[in-house]
Amino acid sequence: MLMNVQPIATLSERVNEIRSLTAQIVNREILPYENLLWAARSNARLTADDIAEARDRREHIRTVVRQAGLWAPHLPVEYGGAGLDFLELAYMNEVLAYAVGAAALFGVVAPNSGNQSILVKYGTEAQKAQWLVPLIEGKLESGFSMTEPDAAGSDPRSLRTTARRDGDEWVINGHKWFTSNGKRADFFIVMCRTEDADGGDANGRMTQIIVPRDAPGVNIVRGITVWGVESDHCEIIYDDVRVPVENQLGSRGSGHQAAQDRLGAGRIYHCMNSIGQMWRAFDLMVERTMVREVHGGLLETKQFVQGFIADSYMDIQAARLMTIHCAEKMAADLDPRTDISAIKVFVPAAYERVVDRAIQVWGAAGVSGDLPLAGMYQGARTLRLADGPDEVHRILIAKNVLSRYHGGLGWDFGN
Ligand SMILES: Cc1cc2nc3c(=O)[nH]c(=O)nc-3n(C[C@H](O)[C@H](O)[C@H](O)COP(=O)(O)OP(=O)(O)OC[C@H]3O[C@@H](n4cnc5c(N)ncnc54)[C@H](O)[C@@H]3O)c2cc1C
Repeated sequence: MLMNVQPIATLSERVNEIRSLTAQIVNREILPYENLLWAARSNARLTADDIAEARDRREHIRTVVRQAGLWAPHLPVEYGGAGLDFLELAYMNEVLAYAVGAAALFGVVAPNSGNQSILVKYGTEAQKAQWLVPLIEGKLESGFSMTEPDAAGSDPRSLRTTARRDGDEWVINGHKWFTSNGKRADFFIVMCRTEDADGGDANGRMTQIIVPRDAPGVNIVRGITVWGVESDHCEIIYDDVRVPVENQLGSRGSGHQAAQDRLGAGRIYHCMNSIGQMWRAFDLMVERTMVREVHGGLLETKQFVQGFIADSYMDIQAARLMTIHCAEKMAADLDPRTDISAIKVFVPAAYERVVDRAIQVWGAAGVSGDLPLAGMYQGARTLRLADGPDEVHRILIAKNVLSRYHGGLGWDFGN
């Protein structure tokens, strides 16, 4: 089934145009070839001809995306991107995510895309020339190295990796894990503790530093097995790694703020992605109920299954409206922090429920590699941990709400 994306009366002409153009490319150029493009997902045996055809198709899609002016939608025009504003990008993410993996064909590949945005904002001209431009051109790969096995990722202020100044160099020591893209990366942006000796608040002690993969002392220990498969999320030891002070990203002590910049907007985009994938799971589920006969009738006639459809519809609409509300606040420069935490808890859980029902309706095929549902289910579950686990965001919501009430104000119903 192709996705049905019609103009929305309340959106600007430009946002509707972006949604429509993206949907056309996904519908025409990606969905009919999805099995070929993503065959590796189902361990399909590919012939040399299939591999060549998939490569040519990817190249063709990238050309179509560039011609449509939608390449690298997260980047400013001066860096070869589409230069979309925040809302345009949020709405585009929903449409793009309908086809699993389509973002990569539009030039958005995590963690490179997040690193690109951070380098655009915090990088010096020399850093941009050395790291950002080749990263955008696809000549370099990168990773973001923050989480550690020996300190809670949900409390970044507890990180132990240190960077010590020695003359014109930073000397980095630490143990990281779950650094995505770790095996392919040519450089890492490493979150380090730099300001213990200077005092300052806990957030102000962190600095991000660019570390080339081939610097002596960078030891990629392993790709961690995730959901039973060896992954590219890597465990890395940084052992007396020396890099020039010029590799410091942003000012000393700005690391926590840079991470928040990366994650705040990123959480809204991830939620819009999840909603696009929920629509896909929903379409797959409803379509199946209309053709599969069990016990003398189509699945769509069974009330249990009608309940799945109704509950999934409500989950998607609630998740979508919450996320759009949050995105609109962000775009209007209102404080979106409570809402970002709210969607970060609600949307992955709703996504998990919707995919779970779609899997149930499809029976055994639902967990097979023939459909994208099993991968979505794992993705949804993982999202409840990554970018801050549920509990941390629930605490933040309660803290923000309570502080208003303690200040003599209730929560503004319209806000
Ligand atoms: C597939 C994948 C890719 C990732 N990619 C990257 C990457 O590229 N770079 C990177 O740096 N990191 C990455 N991560 C790591 C991710 O950001 C962390 O896993 C996440 O921040 C949680 O940290 P943690 O695993 O150390 O859990 P912990 O901080 O140890 O927390 C464990 C659990 O404790 C509970 N908890 C935490 N705080 C509280 C509280 N205050 N009250 C009650 N309960 C609480 C929560 O249930 C939480 O799940 C990735 C993770 C995954 C799974």
